[in-house]
Amino acid sequence: MTGLSGKHALVTGGGSGVGAAIAHALAGAGCKVTITGRNAAALDAVKAADERIRPAVADVTDPEALAKAVASATDGDGQLHLVIANAGIAESQPFSKLDLEQWQRMIDVNLTGVFNTFKAALPCMRNVKDGRMVAIASTAGLQGGGYISAYSASKHGVVGLVRSLAVELGPRGITVNAVCPGYIDTPMTSRTLDNISAKTGMSHADATQHLLKDVPTGRLIAPGEVAGAVLWLCSDLAASVNGETVVMDGGQP
Ligand code: NAP
Repeated sequence: MTGLSGKHALVTGGGSGVGAAIAHALAGAGCKVTITGRNAAALDAVKAADERIRPAVADVTDPEALAKAVASATDGDGQLHLVIANAGIAESQPFSKLDLEQWQRMIDVNLTGVFNTFKAALPCMRNVKDGRMVAIASTAGLQGGGYISAYSASKHGVVGLVRSLAVELGPRGITVNAVCPGYIDTPMTSRTLDNISAKTGMSHADATQHLLKDVPTGRLIAPGEVAGAVLWLCSDLAASVNGETVVMDGGQP
C-alpha cells in the first residue's frame, strides 16, 4: 500500500483481536506503531512479533493516560499521522435489565473512548498534510438489534462523530472514516459464543451458525480483513475517502 512507510500510527486496543491485526498490518507496511490497552502483558506479546510496534499502557477512558501514549507515539518529533480508535467492549442485555452503570460503561469505552483518542491525537496532527483517523465501529453502528441497545447506541455515536469530524477536519488534511464489520473471529466474539452456550446449551459451532444465520457469506470475518480495510483507508489510495463507513457485513440484507 502506498504512502505508509515511515508514518507514526497509534492503535488503541492493540493487544488483541482486530487491534493486534491492524498493528501488524501497519508495521508490515513500514509504519512505527504504538499500541495501547490496559493489559501490559497482552501489549508486550504483540510487540514481541515486530520491533516497529511499541506498547503504551493506557485506558481510553483516561484522557491523561492517552495524552502520554500519544506523546510516546510521536517519537519525540511531535507528529502523529494515523490514529486508529479500535478499543471497545461488547456486553449484551435485554433493555429491561440494562442498568445505568452498564449503559454508561459501554458509552464511556466505545464512544467517549473514541472522542478521547481523537482529541488527544489532534494537536500532534497539526502539521500533517495527509492525516488519517479511523474508528472501528460496527454494523451495529448502522442498524439496531435485540439485546444490544447500549452497544448499538455507542457505535451509532461513533459513526456520527466520524461523519462530523470528516467535515471539520477534511480542510486540514485529515480524513476521518469508520469501518463497520459484522462478527469477527476475535476474543470478543468468543466471549459472545461462551455466553450463548452458557444460556442455551448450544455448542460453539451451533452458536456460531446462530450468529451468522442472516449472513450470506456464512462465516466470521478474519481480523486481517478488517486490518486490510484500515490499511487501505490509511493509504494514498483512499485520500479522497472521507466521512464514510466501510461496511463489512458479508452481504447481510
Ligand atoms: P477484543 O479482542 O476484545 O479487543 C478489544 C480491545 O480493546 C482489547 O485489546 C482491549 O484491551 C481493548 N480495550 C477494552 N477496553 C479498553 C479500555 N477501557 N481502554 C483501553 N483499551 C480497552 O475485541 P475485538 O473484536 O478485537 O474488538 C475490536 C473493536 O472491533 C471493538 O471496538 C469492537 O466493538 C469492534 N467490533 C468487533 C466485532 C466482533 O465481532 N468482534 C464486530 C464489530 C466491531 P485491554 O483489555 O488490555 O484494555
